[in-house]
Amino acid sequence: MRRRYIKQLNMSLSPLGFGVMRVAQNADGSFPPEVYSLLAEALEKGINYFDTAWPYLRGRSETLVRDALVRKYGRDRFHIADKLPVWDCGDRKDMDRVFDAQLERLSVEYVDFYLLHGLHHRRWIDIYDKGALDFLEEKRREGRIRKVGFSMHDTVETLKIIESAYNWDFAQLQINYHDWIAQRAKESYEYLAERNIPCIVMEPVGGGRLSKLPPEAAKLLNGLRPNESEASWALRFVGALPNVAVTLSGMATREQLEDNIATFGTIQPMSKRESDALKEVTKIIQSKNPIPCTACRYCVDDCPKGVDIPQIFQRYNDCKLFERSDRLDVQYFVFVPDGKRADSCVSCGKCVKKCPQNIDIPQKLKMIHDEAVGTAKGMEDSRLRESGGV
Ligand code: SF4
Ligand code: SF4
Repeated sequence: MRRRYIKQLNMSLSPLGFGVMRVAQNADGSFPPEVYSLLAEALEKGINYFDTAWPYLRGRSETLVRDALVRKYGRDRFHIADKLPVWDCGDRKDMDRVFDAQLERLSVEYVDFYLLHGLHHRRWIDIYDKGALDFLEEKRREGRIRKVGFSMHDTVETLKIIESAYNWDFAQLQINYHDWIAQRAKESYEYLAERNIPCIVMEPVGGGRLSKLPPEAAKLLNGLRPNESEASWALRFVGALPNVAVTLSGMATREQLEDNIATFGTIQPMSKRESDALKEVTKIIQSKNPIPCTACRYCVDDCPKGVDIPQIFQRYNDCKLFERSDRLDVQYFVFVPDGKRADSCVSCGKCVKKCPQNIDIPQKLKMIHDEAVGTAKGMEDSRLRESGGV
């Protein structure tokens, strides 16, 4: 993969970055051998940007990067992006403590890119008041952070507030063709571009949702480019934006790695016809009203009742997007284990604080549970009618 020189950063970066958050993980937290070879293969094929974070992979993502890359290859062969878990920092001392632990987990002297992780308006005010900018400035001065940035999932109004507070080197935003229109991502992208701040893109495939489209949407894209995957459309859309320095993809398999590398090998800008097709696809997705969960799993660890929130949302979305709403009861009652379903939720709200997508999780869980119960009852009633029981 050819690197591109990013003038504002004075660095040559692969346009595709490896998001180390979706690889396979064993139940005991360890990783299968193929995960190590996947990361090594990504590096060998030219990817030189690896994105990790404190909570990813149940806190094992940084040590995975250490074992798969740092200990095997020269430190100058790749760039590491890591992030401060702002929600876990009660004060400035916590920031120092976490940062030191991250360098130790990674077994490195410095990180190339360091971000305040998952900001939204309330979190920004909180971490700003606790001295996050002094913390970043100090680490930068000491040479332990090379480039300073933030990731956020909030509106362009919040972006403007954060951006104007510091001399940021870059920002990481959630951009994909669906959110470009539906979530005002275009405005945020353009704001950064006007200020000449390079953009790192996360969730280009919407947490996987844009790699598996409703049939009528998939047909539209296949009609234009029959040999290209649905995910490649999403990656091509963001990869062709001129102010995007790196597009992150949370790759889990060799096939995904190869497909993504092929897409980024020759990024072809969208034609007018193709852009129109993506607008149509967005309309189709919106008409099905899916829950905007990206399966990041940030919400899961804090749930006192062990509700499997992302699994429930994914099963619900699959039913909506693929028009199997009559099967919601099966998807929910058969495949989500008892005790992990929505009826265990006690509406404590802990998960909501962790959700970067601002989903009202307890309310959505209740909605899904009620709908599944209603669907099951409807199926039972019609069975009884057919058998002459009513
Ligand atoms: S609101 Fe419900 S799902 Fe969320 S953490 Fe509390 S119990 Fe778990
Ligand atoms: S509900 Fe929110 S926090 Fe939980 S997996 Fe989905 S996007 Fe992530």
